[in-house]
Amino acid sequence: MPAAKHTSKPAPGRFIPSLSADEIAKIQLDGLKWTVNHAYHGTPFYRLRLNEAGIAPGDIKDLSDLAKLPFTTAYDLQDGYPLPLLSVPEERVVRIHGSSGTTGKRKILAYTQKDIDDWANMFARCYELAGLTELDRVQICVGYGLWTAGAGFQLGCERFGAMALPVGPGMLDIQLQMLTDLGTTCLCSTASMALLLGEEVEKQHLRDKLKLKRSIFGAEAHSRKMRQRFEEALGLEHSFDITGMTELYGPGAGLECEAHQGIHYWADLYILEIIDPVTLLPVAPGELGEMVVTTLRKEASPLIRYRTRDMTRLIPGACPCGCGMPRHERIQGRSDDMIIFRGVNIYPGQVAAVLERHPQLQSEYQIALSRSEGLDHMVVRAERRTETPEAEAEVLARAVGEDIKSQILVSAKVEILAPGTLPRSFAKTKRVLDEREKD
Ligand code: ZN
Repeated sequence: MPAAKHTSKPAPGRFIPSLSADEIAKIQLDGLKWTVNHAYHGTPFYRLRLNEAGIAPGDIKDLSDLAKLPFTTAYDLQDGYPLPLLSVPEERVVRIHGSSGTTGKRKILAYTQKDIDDWANMFARCYELAGLTELDRVQICVGYGLWTAGAGFQLGCERFGAMALPVGPGMLDIQLQMLTDLGTTCLCSTASMALLLGEEVEKQHLRDKLKLKRSIFGAEAHSRKMRQRFEEALGLEHSFDITGMTELYGPGAGLECEAHQGIHYWADLYILEIIDPVTLLPVAPGELGEMVVTTLRKEASPLIRYRTRDMTRLIPGACPCGCGMPRHERIQGRSDDMIIFRGVNIYPGQVAAVLERHPQLQSEYQIALSRSEGLDHMVVRAERRTETPEAEAEVLARAVGEDIKSQILVSAKVEILAPGTLPRSFAKTKRVLDEREKD
């Protein structure tokens, strides 16, 4: 999908290039041609796929030809385990990283030295967009090892030129020690780790000893309320949601900017398409769908139309921050979690987004689906906050129901429960109860 049109050309940063929409489109076409040719000649996997689709590398003449290419999925990575996409001779591979597959085998991806350099530059852009300078001290509280998280934050930080404090996850005491003794200015962690640290800082009355200004967080779903909570507790000026996945180098594929109106992604490094996960056709611009990525210069493990399962939408128009890179909304959930309700595709994240608009509610919720007389019914259960009187529950339920109707275009019965009624879990909470098959 071509990058969003924008008129003004922002000043180039040290790492973020200043590119017009036309320049991005040119880079995308050249990169697409290179990738298809490279993958075709580099690995039997892609050669077979492209042959089956009746496409030769020379057939790519225009960006619209992207739609003719076959998809690649996580199953392909598992079926061909460990390195089905490897498109360079092994002597050019300098590293591998892996991620846990949610089912079955791990995903293993290979990197050439150029891939590692591209990743470092890509991640350095994130620190630049987050407003850091070489004088920042960056505490990295994510996992090191096979995972891309620690390696990516570290690579990017060194390439950018700030000071990396590689602590890794957990170890609350050491985290607090480094935060106070070293005067960390930027915290990199998951949202729940930031929350945990924030609570500990409050408990130990350490806030006056902190120099934290910014945080970069990602890798898990978070609510706006959770974010406000850790921003306050840690005294942050800004926090930034980061995206990325091992298949696409690792973390750093995109970042929020100071305008906090979506995530800028690096359209000169990969093409982002949004498709309907059922029909596999592109959705209308600005509509919600599954993110599909095609890399433009990845050597060891190129991606052609890789289905990420992440749901988001493109944000049209220019960003007030001045960065010319296009934007998508924060990830709304996984396409595997999709519910088909009376013929409409719904994601639990959409319901969560509606509930977030009502400050009288807590963040826990549940969606129950049933079928009677051939018709689907939906009940959305949410908890009121302790401060919200029970007497308000009925009015609140009606307001939320109307909001769901206008935002998601479906009718749901809304039940407002007493605080603490819904089941809680530290692992992935089951949000959807689907009892339709039993009827
Ligand atoms: Zn922006």
